[in-house]
Amino acid sequence: DPVDNKINQSPDYARIVHDSIQYVWRHGVSVDTTRAERGPIAVSASGVRVTDADGTVFLDALAGGSAAATLGHARVDVADAVHAQMTKLHWVSLRTFINEPSVELARRIAGLTEAGLQTSFFVSSGSEAVESATQLAKSYHRARGNPERTKFLYRKTGYHGTSLVGASASDNKEFRTWFAPLAPGFVELDACYPYRRPAGMTEDEYGVSVADAMEATIIAEGPETIAAILAESIPAALVLVPPASYMRRLREICDRYDILWIDDEVFIGFGRTGRWFGFEHYDVTPDIVTVSKGITGGYIPLGAAIATSRVMETIFGDGATTQAKVSGHTYAAHPTACAAGLAVLDAIEKEHLLESTASVGDWMIDEFRRRYDGHPHVGDIRGKGFLIGIELVQDLATKDRFASQLSVGRRIMARAMEQQFMLRATGDVVTLFPALVTTQQDGEAMVEATCRAIDEVIDEI
Ligand code: PMP
Repeated sequence: DPVDNKINQSPDYARIVHDSIQYVWRHGVSVDTTRAERGPIAVSASGVRVTDADGTVFLDALAGGSAAATLGHARVDVADAVHAQMTKLHWVSLRTFINEPSVELARRIAGLTEAGLQTSFFVSSGSEAVESATQLAKSYHRARGNPERTKFLYRKTGYHGTSLVGASASDNKEFRTWFAPLAPGFVELDACYPYRRPAGMTEDEYGVSVADAMEATIIAEGPETIAAILAESIPAALVLVPPASYMRRLREICDRYDILWIDDEVFIGFGRTGRWFGFEHYDVTPDIVTVSKGITGGYIPLGAAIATSRVMETIFGDGATTQAKVSGHTYAAHPTACAAGLAVLDAIEKEHLLESTASVGDWMIDEFRRRYDGHPHVGDIRGKGFLIGIELVQDLATKDRFASQLSVGRRIMARAMEQQFMLRATGDVVTLFPALVTTQQDGEAMVEATCRAIDEVIDEI
């Protein structure tokens, strides 16, 4: 047990772990898991490396663990922007004052793409962004005289956060049990999972068939009751890159039934896939986009639901502001968080990080494909830029999964951690989502470390 070794090495280690279990509820980690696994204590970090309490350095292919540290760790330019803003105007309420960093950040976001994204509703996390997006969608339909449109569609394997709305729109069995009763009116759709499509179908045919099944669900539920579909353009947890046919049909169906598409870009927005947003890989535009993580590179919490001009004109077009009932948070459009966001946008642009993400990330995907060509247990390698997934299977021909008791994914994750390397596994899909500043050299080290952990665990079983 690497953690026990650490406890032996460092007298403080056992005390901090003990106090952590006692006093800090580790979100997203069950109490049992916390007790069993404890984990290293991070004390400092720089670039794509995190250092723990006894000096062990971890190579970070997870942008801090949950994909937020998109600029890497300890950026002085972002820290300087935060310091300057905090010592000038750290925070005032959006109810009372306009603040300039939020206006400038929203204006910059509106100009990033041609998609008509216009108005940012700033909050402090991804879950709040998702919840706010559902409120905006309800306002849109109320403004159109359709207050009965209150249902939301979400997809199997999807994840949209931990608020009641987020959990109700997420296919997470633990949340769905723990947080029951969930919010009413959330309807589950099939995921678009190209690798697991029926035999004999092309990816494009499959994409159309999944979208057609969505339309059938909409008709069965009653289109006049549905407000929006919550769907990531490229679902990040399992790296499910959809075929263009699916995205096209999804957009057509939403238009046909006046259902909004809320594109949840919390995980991949602001550069992860080599474009500002995942939807830009397709010839479609969403109605509302939710963001967090990459908007500030994790330096300060910030999130946003960003509505297109079409949605905003419907809500506010006739000046009928009474149509728009959305929550207002104390920390809405926090000036210091927005200043961090501006520094992050500057860095992405000045350092051409979209371009380097596309080139280094796509090189890594190609390199994994080259190394694992013909491997009996590597079923699929997929991704875009720095969103990379490797799906392991027990049987290449049937695509049967490994028995869950083998915990192949979890073992690979643990093995990598022992070898001072941070990767993630969701089931038996090994995922990497490093910072956009990952260099070719670091990318090569990440490929090496990933293959080592995978190969050792597969050899053992
Ligand atoms: N949506 C997606 C797609 C996410 O990946 C996440 C977080 N992993 C969320 C929503 C929730 O964001 P937060 O954890 O900041 O509440």
